Amino acid sequence: MTAHIINGKEIVAAYRAQIKEQTEALRSRGVQPGLAVIIVGDDPASHVYVRNKAKACEAAGMHSEVYKLPENTPEGEVLDLIGKLNEDAGIHGILVQSPLPGHISEERVVEAIAVEKDVDCFHPVNVGNLMIGKPGPSPCTPAGVIEILKKIGVDIAGKHAVVVGRSNIVGKPMAMLLLREHATVTVCHSRTPDLAAITRQADILVAAVGQARMIKREHVKPGAVVIDVGINRLPDGKLAGDVDFDDVLETASYITPVPGCVGPMTITILLRNTLEAAQQAAGAQVNA
Ligand code: NDP
Repeated sequence: MTAHIINGKEIVAAYRAQIKEQTEALRSRGVQPGLAVIIVGDDPASHVYVRNKAKACEAAGMHSEVYKLPENTPEGEVLDLIGKLNEDAGIHGILVQSPLPGHISEERVVEAIAVEKDVDCFHPVNVGNLMIGKPGPSPCTPAGVIEILKKIGVDIAGKHAVVVGRSNIVGKPMAMLLLREHATVTVCHSRTPDLAAITRQADILVAAVGQARMIKREHVKPGAVVIDVGINRLPDGKLAGDVDFDDVLETASYITPVPGCVGPMTITILLRNTLEAAQQAAGAQVNA
């Protein structure tokens, strides 16, 4: 069996076209969704991500603002900027690109963002709402994975989903969303003994590890759907996922390519969250 390579470009294009249409509808009511992105320091990869987010925003008809701050910016200045953006009616989503320099507390920064403008779903209130199933923004990467699974027609309910990685950004919220879709979920991490014995039980395997090509054929059950969240820079400058694509290709039923699937889908959910935040703000204006 050779796996179907999931066509991320096609899925993303269709999704973004819908978002653009809804954005135009909202603009015709006088509200343009706006996203502000703050980046501190010179990390080249982070600058690429921020540029891609801003471009996607503009292509969808949204307003985008990027604040590039020097590495030595005091934490107070970042918090003041967030405070101003919280008050800015033209901005519906605020995102602070990680990683931040060591002298700035990610926790204080995330908690400073207004809950209704937290389009990354990092604020503890939104994380809590996710846990208890209350409405709120979707965690971008995990929600993108769910959309990909639905788009290729995977019936998640009752499936055994194994997530490798337990970070706050990907692994844990991924497990929550799969649970919400009624999968039976197992979460693995660096202290999991005999990883392959567990991942081989997965109908849906999500790799979010940060180690290039570590998931091999022996980790995959024949016919499993394999979703590769990883983005790793190889010494030759090329990108590789956490899954050894060529090794797994003959074993999986579906597999995502890296780059070109989960990454752009993550940005798509960011756009959706910004649109929804603007729709809610517009609704609040109408009802006020
Ligand atoms: P983190 O480094 O925060 O977390 C990695 C997780 O993998 C940890 O839970 C760690 O376990 C686990 N892990 C590490 N080594 C092993 C191992 N040998 N066996 C099993 N588990 C292991 O990374 P992130 O979650 O932030 O990101 C993961 C990957 O996804 C990265 O490649 C990142 O670049 C990519 N990414 C992609 C995005 C996209 O848009 N496509 C968005 C965000 C991230 P432990 O907790 O025990 O340390």
